[in-house]
Amino acid sequence: MKVMKFGGTSVGTAERMKSVAQLISCDMDTKIVVLSAMSGTTNTLVEISGYLYKKNPEGANTLINKLEQKYIAHTFELYKTEEWRKATTKFLHEEFDYLRSFTKVHFTSFEEKVILAQGEIISTNMMTNYLKECGENTILLSALDIIRTDKNAEPDFSYISNKSQNIMAENPGYKIYITQGFICRNAYGEIDNLLRGGSDYTACLIGAALKTEEIQIWTDIDGMHNNDPRIVENTVPVRQLHFEEAAELAYFGAKILHPTCIQPAKFAGVPVRLLNTMDPTAPGTLINNSFQPGTIKAVAAKDDIVCIQIESSRMLLAHGFLRKVFEIFEIYKTSIDMICTSEVGVSLTIDNAAHLNEIVEELKKYGTVSVEKEMVIVCVVGDLSANNIGFETMASEAFRQIPVRMISYGGSRHNISFLVQKEDKKRTLQALSDTLFHS
Ligand code: ASP
Ligand code: MG
Repeated sequence: MKVMKFGGTSVGTAERMKSVAQLISCDMDTKIVVLSAMSGTTNTLVEISGYLYKKNPEGANTLINKLEQKYIAHTFELYKTEEWRKATTKFLHEEFDYLRSFTKVHFTSFEEKVILAQGEIISTNMMTNYLKECGENTILLSALDIIRTDKNAEPDFSYISNKSQNIMAENPGYKIYITQGFICRNAYGEIDNLLRGGSDYTACLIGAALKTEEIQIWTDIDGMHNNDPRIVENTVPVRQLHFEEAAELAYFGAKILHPTCIQPAKFAGVPVRLLNTMDPTAPGTLINNSFQPGTIKAVAAKDDIVCIQIESSRMLLAHGFLRKVFEIFEIYKTSIDMICTSEVGVSLTIDNAAHLNEIVEELKKYGTVSVEKEMVIVCVVGDLSANNIGFETMASEAFRQIPVRMISYGGSRHNISFLVQKEDKKRTLQALSDTLFHS
């Protein structure tokens, strides 16, 4: 048994839905298929909610009606038989009437989450109906019965494990189990979600809970590339990554995967494979627990980084200085990404500047503070353990002509990060590709 998750673009049109249906029905293996909403839908639902918060029902209704027309048009392309097209049209009308009903109620974040859940509910119903029309042995399971978060809004893994095992046991004998990505219930039983892009997370949670042989994340690119393909030419997909390497790349900008989603898969030891719906036979990227010594895997960059430096002669020989500094970040719930220290100062970076002013004011108690905005963290991922001699130098070689503000090495055995200015991002990424992958 395996889990296959298809993102918004992979189910973005009737044509794409048909390709997905073909992919999931081409052999006799049992599959759990996790679907995103059709691309653009969640954004539109966010926009609709925006109008409802502003008490503008007309604005909301205009968007709801437009979205409904789009979906009705999809049914003409997707279904061959009148029977299934009619059944789906009826379902869609009920769905959109439900959306319209929110224009008459008091609108809060609770209602917004219910609205956001409809994108995945619609895409999974449409796909299930299509598979049934094609004669497939399929069943739709509601993710609202399986995925739950705890009081900290984190997935409640023991609940999810129990539920998914029970639901599978109660519904034996199907070839294709369809469910929604992204959506869940929270600790209070209300409809909630795993945050934007959370469908990957759903797939990994279910795969880990059922200890499936593999979790496949299908997107529209052939795996994780060794550098940002939007910026650097001639990037190639990385064939294999350790879970930690993949998490680091996802966090530092490789948009293909939700950064925290692979943790459950890692703990359960279930491999994750990134595959391309546009090129289904391409090998993609395999993420598992094996670590390839002596190889640099990839480079990624994270934008909008703020660098804060605190200099103080009081730090000299003093203890407790860093604790005081860190406490300030803790109070403002701001996490630190990179950190470098010397005897008389500390530089660190944050990617959430919401409380920057307050943090800086507090830090001034302990030293002279300077702030640089619009910085970029460039991270190199692979075997960067101390005994893999020379790889740090190879990475640093790329910075011969580029001003580097910070270097962080040794935090883990598979990462070295550099902080550069925004205007140097492109040439930094290119230079790293040239030195690490093309020489
Ligand atoms: N539909 C949700 C979003 O657009 C979840 C997902 O696609 O992963 O964020
Ligand atoms: Mg996604």
